[in-house]
Amino acid sequence: MTPLKQIEHIGIAVKNLESSIPFYTDLLGLKLVGIETVESEQVRVAFIEIGETRLELLEATNPESSIAKFIEKKGEGIHHIAFQTGNAQQHLDFLKIQGIKLINEVPKEGAHGNLVAFLHPKSTNRVLIELCQPPSKSTREEVENINEHSL
Ligand code: ZN
Repeated sequence: MTPLKQIEHIGIAVKNLESSIPFYTDLLGLKLVGIETVESEQVRVAFIEIGETRLELLEATNPESSIAKFIEKKGEGIHHIAFQTGNAQQHLDFLKIQGIKLINEVPKEGAHGNLVAFLHPKSTNRVLIELCQPPSKSTREEVENINEHSL
């Protein structure tokens, strides 16, 4: 199993992206690198780069979204921490055997084509932890190579 190398991002629940972004960009001088809607999570997400990692501002697109429920219960604030993994499934399988409660037993597609899975806060000091597996470069290259050969 490949060791975790870095914090991929920190998720922050906000009521409104447009009114939250300028603090980070205009006042802190950070760079907004993209806004994306993730239908499966019913959120709009703004990524703000800081060094090797990012802040992920999350706005609910639907009152049923887990972000809407989080804000309703606790207000805006830090929602989750995402660790960058190699093979997320391997980590999930191992953690499950160790008795860690999982929200997702199989990673699903998140923003930027990442595969993501959440661990249950009951097992992790009430911190919602996301495992985040970036799309593999070698897979992309293989696909490109196959395409080249078929031309
Ligand atoms: Zn996240």
